[in-house]
Amino acid sequence: MGKPTGFKEFDRKKVEWRLPVVRLNDYGEIYTEPDEQQLRTQGARCMDCGVPFCQSATGCPIDNLIPEWNDLVYNGRWKDALDRLHKTNNFPEFTGRVCPAPCEGACVLGITNPPVTIKNIENAIIDRGYAEGWIHPKPPETRTGKSVAIIGSGPAGLAAADQLNKVGHTVTVYERSDRIGGLLTYGIPNMKLDKNVVQRRLDLMAAEGVKFVTKADVGRTVDPKQLMAENHAVLLATGATKPRDLPIPGRQLKGVHFAMEFLSANTASLLDSKHADGKFISAKGKRVVVIGGGDTGCDCIGTSLRHGCSELVNFELLDKPPESRAPDNPWPQWPRIFRSDYGHEEAVFKFGHDPREYCILSKEFIDDGKGNVTGIKTVRVQWVKKDGKFTMEEVPGSEEIIGADLVLLAMGFLGPEHYVSEILGLELDPRSNYKAEHGKFTTSIPGVFAAGDCRRGQSLVVWAINEGRGAARAIDIYLRGHSTLPAPGLTMGSALVSTT
Ligand SMILES: Cc1cc2nc3c(=O)[nH]c(=O)nc-3n(C[C@H](O)[C@H](O)[C@H](O)COP(=O)(O)OP(=O)(O)OC[C@H]3O[C@@H](n4cnc5c(N)ncnc54)[C@H](O)[C@@H]3O)c2cc1C
Ligand code: SF4
Repeated sequence: MGKPTGFKEFDRKKVEWRLPVVRLNDYGEIYTEPDEQQLRTQGARCMDCGVPFCQSATGCPIDNLIPEWNDLVYNGRWKDALDRLHKTNNFPEFTGRVCPAPCEGACVLGITNPPVTIKNIENAIIDRGYAEGWIHPKPPETRTGKSVAIIGSGPAGLAAADQLNKVGHTVTVYERSDRIGGLLTYGIPNMKLDKNVVQRRLDLMAAEGVKFVTKADVGRTVDPKQLMAENHAVLLATGATKPRDLPIPGRQLKGVHFAMEFLSANTASLLDSKHADGKFISAKGKRVVVIGGGDTGCDCIGTSLRHGCSELVNFELLDKPPESRAPDNPWPQWPRIFRSDYGHEEAVFKFGHDPREYCILSKEFIDDGKGNVTGIKTVRVQWVKKDGKFTMEEVPGSEEIIGADLVLLAMGFLGPEHYVSEILGLELDPRSNYKAEHGKFTTSIPGVFAAGDCRRGQSLVVWAINEGRGAARAIDIYLRGHSTLPAPGLTMGSALVSTT
């Protein structure tokens, strides 16, 4: 254990973000360099409680050995902490930056005090590992002669590839986009996850023997049946890429886009030419309305602000969450409370108020007469409890028109696209995801497995890593009859957390 009395002596102190006044001028990461002593003090706050809920139950979905590395960091044993961290997490530099940290929601200290800054410590361990040169390619000593094709290069596909390669299988990852990384690359913006951080891990994996093929759209330019014939197993990790639409009058107007059209083009143009090619949807000088919250909505806000939008509103259909846990949301569940992420903080700085409007329903997009959107007809709603269930009711007389030149739809995703599953004749579950049980990951076709958002529906990076690791173990057992790969947690509690 760190310092037995640390939790009584020290307050929680997070690693600061760069100030909005500075960071709004660039697309660099929002984080500042952590102070080593501060992190060690935060490690000292860990109580090493008998049952570490942070690493199990409703806490970390990949069972990170949190109390162990808190103690190691407190004692300055960073390299040992790194070894512990890599035992359960292939990509701590991703989760350390973007995970909403269900571990902190389940921290025992959090019952009475602010929880340990677990996510900051995780990120500092891995960044230090790279900075000190402790992380080198470690290709497997022998190959098994078995090959696996992975379709989709998001965190689920990458975690599976990393695990399968470690035990000597030959792995090729097929990605339809021009860059590897899935939503790590073309979803989550640079401000939250610098693409050099992604590339650094990809370079390591490539040096260890994982093959990456980009612009390979399986089901369109690459035949999935051929991949099945040429490999001993196939893993589908194609993500939940079908966006939820808003089919109200005026949806066809120019200026109404899915969030991902906006975010992906922005990152592609930034990486290709620092925006010089102009191949992105600009929010400059526009009145922007983002419909839907979560990470996607926040990323649209942060990106629009960096473009220089003139106004910004974020519509939420639901009510504002409470400031602290409601009675039906006790510890160690994920706290469903009001939070301000980086984009909200930046909007407050720029416009002087929080951009979020709650209990507001969009009824119609308004045409400027030339086929462009110029506003949204809205009505306020209230959530009324009837027979134990909340139902939405429109508030009479609350109709309004809100001006908008750019509307971004960030209302979540409806599962995977189906062109691969149709060719293979794969069974789907009732939510139209690929049907495969968590823990087994086998689909209705022998030798074909599924993991990540395409199997569980839209979720989190850490859950994609959980699924990729689990699927790798299932594939290894399928190929060799046994596996030395660990089985990540099967707890479903944290499944409640989805912020997209
Ligand atoms: C804007 C946004 C922000 C987010 N922010 C966060 C965050 O801050 N924290 C967090 O934890 N989670 C966040 N998420 C959620 C998280 O990114 C996802 O849960 C996670 O990336 C899912 O991983 P995956 O590997 O299952 O799928 P994905 O990351 O979606 O990757 C799937 C890949 O498969 C490829 N593909 C699909 N079909 C084919 C095909 N037929 N052939 C070849 N390739 C194909 C796609 O191009 C894609 O690259 C965010 C999501 C979005 C949309
Ligand atoms: S991966 Fe997420 S839940 Fe797990 S320790 Fe890191 S921040 Fe916490």
